[in-house]
Amino acid sequence: MRQCKSSKKHPCDTHWKRPHRISSLLLYTVMNHSTASPECVFMAQNLTKVYGEGGAAVQALRGVNLRITQGEFVVLLGASGSGKSTLLNILGGLDNATAGTAQWLHQGETHALTGASDAELTRYRREHVGFVFQFYNLIPCLTALENVALVTDIAQDPMRPEDALAMVGLSDRMNHFVSQLSGGEQQRVAIARAIAKRPQVLLCDEPTGALDCATGIVVLQAIEKVNRELGTTTVVITHNAPIARMADRVMRMADGRIVDIQVNPHKVAAASLSW
Ligand code: ADP
Ligand code: MG
Repeated sequence: MRQCKSSKKHPCDTHWKRPHRISSLLLYTVMNHSTASPECVFMAQNLTKVYGEGGAAVQALRGVNLRITQGEFVVLLGASGSGKSTLLNILGGLDNATAGTAQWLHQGETHALTGASDAELTRYRREHVGFVFQFYNLIPCLTALENVALVTDIAQDPMRPEDALAMVGLSDRMNHFVSQLSGGEQQRVAIARAIAKRPQVLLCDEPTGALDCATGIVVLQAIEKVNRELGTTTVVITHNAPIARMADRVMRMADGRIVDIQVNPHKVAAASLSW
């Protein structure tokens, strides 16, 4: 397996002390922390996931190692069944690993996602993670604004729902019901809903999977804008290779492993992609 092709040391390369319980999640103390380099947001080591048991067991992840840096735009590319969603779900606190470690780093503290309780993971997801899925999961009997307000009403330091919708270019559709919006518009409402609580990470699982190319590009432009203007660390899953051109780094998965990591020397604007 190749790791990063760049000869430069990745900013996440740092050393760790043994964990000790400090707050709601297991915390690690960062040693040799460099303030000059961007901070690491995710670290995974030998992450393994097996679904089921015995003869029915499916090995979804077979020892994944990765590091993702603050503000990075990462595309996780791979064929169906390669383990992309399983990996993203573990990083997003939606699923547990079978073995290995996954850590989330925030404000100088390292939180172990593997081994965290359900309550700890729920709090992590609620406060720090924005999810976007292939199907938009909006509430049909509410307007776009009301769908976003459901999140901002319970978040600690949210954007105004209007501002989140403006960010994805939907100021003129705020008061439309979900059924009055196109698929691409619904996905942009879902992005507004995901970012309105100002999450540290935005995790998108096949966000354009149900959309045609032109509509998918508009959705990717919204994600690109969030990453650029809010600095939200962003991971986008796709099986669609051209989308990888808009990433800072591309991680290719096959058969439960990251088989290649490439830094894009010249990342391309979503607007100039096609597939
Ligand atoms: P991808 O997102 O790359 O298509 P997944 O992470 O969804 O891949 O799946 C990886 C493997 O794990 C596949 O073989 C899939 O069938 C299996 N898998 C995923 N979720 C489950 C589950 N809940 N139960 C059993 N097997 C699963
Ligand atoms: Mg998937």
